[in-house]
Amino acid sequence: MSAIRIAARVTRIKPSPSSSASDRANALKREGKAIINLVVGEPDFATPPEICEAACAAIRNGETRYTQNNGTPALREAIAAKFLRENHLTVKPEDIIVTNGAKSAIFNALAATLEVGDEVLIPAPYWVSYPDMVLACDGRPVVITCQEEAGFRLTAEQLRASITSRCRWLILNSPSNPSGASYSRAELRALADVLLDYPHLAIMTDDIYEHLRYDDSPNVHLLEVEPRLADRTLVVNGVSKTYAMTGWRIGYATGPKVLITAMGTLQSQSTSNASSVSQAAALAALNSGTGFITHSREVYRQRRDDIAARLNAVPGLSCRVPEGAFYLYVNCGGLLGKTTAQGQVLKNDSEVVLWLLESAGVAVVAGAAYGLSPYFRLSIATDLATLQAGAAQIANAVSQLK
Ligand code: PMP
Repeated sequence: MSAIRIAARVTRIKPSPSSSASDRANALKREGKAIINLVVGEPDFATPPEICEAACAAIRNGETRYTQNNGTPALREAIAAKFLRENHLTVKPEDIIVTNGAKSAIFNALAATLEVGDEVLIPAPYWVSYPDMVLACDGRPVVITCQEEAGFRLTAEQLRASITSRCRWLILNSPSNPSGASYSRAELRALADVLLDYPHLAIMTDDIYEHLRYDDSPNVHLLEVEPRLADRTLVVNGVSKTYAMTGWRIGYATGPKVLITAMGTLQSQSTSNASSVSQAAALAALNSGTGFITHSREVYRQRRDDIAARLNAVPGLSCRVPEGAFYLYVNCGGLLGKTTAQGQVLKNDSEVVLWLLESAGVAVVAGAAYGLSPYFRLSIATDLATLQAGAAQIANAVSQLK
């Protein structure tokens, strides 16, 4: 018998499929193949220099020690100001927790609340980590399939039909990774009306892509639409995507005091505070104005329009133009049943993705990973010339299918 026995909470989960897809692409690259990697889920921009400079200054000033477990007072004040300025939410700094990326805010909230068998409602296509985090915390992910015809959005009817007495959370991610779907005020109102009928259900809004929206309509938060949900809503956000700061690992959350306190207790006995230097950088980011956000959004918008048009011109592929985030969720249903040059009949999106990697030299992630097939996710967080080359290689490979 081995001394190391891996616990069920870990054996029931799997590593992120986007990392595995990237690993496969990198392995082919090492073999000398030219692979265009469109898997990445992070901005291709560098962190703006003034944010980096704030981190350097923090190091020079000796801000190199433990901070308060829930984050520095200065950063929590800046986050409270951000919630008021951008989301019209009034939040006290003491009801905010700074975490090691938004990911750890979500994980700690689930770990702090789920008992064995508790259900978590997850609209699909979903960010790959939600179901596995729920499983790791002994919960049961309940996937609600959101159809392309509904803009990949959860409808009020679907929500109502999915709620049981075991449901503890609904996770709402707008704009969504991977579909880019974003909810309008009216859609949030309809969801809120259902939620008001089920007071035992808590809501987690993952707003990490809130600034990457392309339709120029004002950004609306569920709590702005329905403040009565505030006593059971956890608002999760972070600086990773908005300010090109994925490596700095700063997320944050606000919600009911009892939950923020429990998350703080868990954090204090696991990771402790997020990096002091990164917190100083995040403070500078939140105070940096809108210049970088406006610029990067415009660049993503151009890429989205250009690449969506190119893919929509490929017979067998179709791609809804997403309202937000930096991914295209491409319907590849038209390729299923076709035969490759090697004589393989493509049966599902996982096979399409492997074939694209081998035949087109383009790495993307199968829709199966996000709970909705037949699709693949293509990241546009790469320069336009590379994206155009990738789209051309995909078009060329598809033209050779029989
Ligand atoms: N939520 C969603 C929907 C994401 O796509 C990601 C990053 N891939 C995160 C949360 C995690 O962000 P962070 O880097 O702040 O942990």
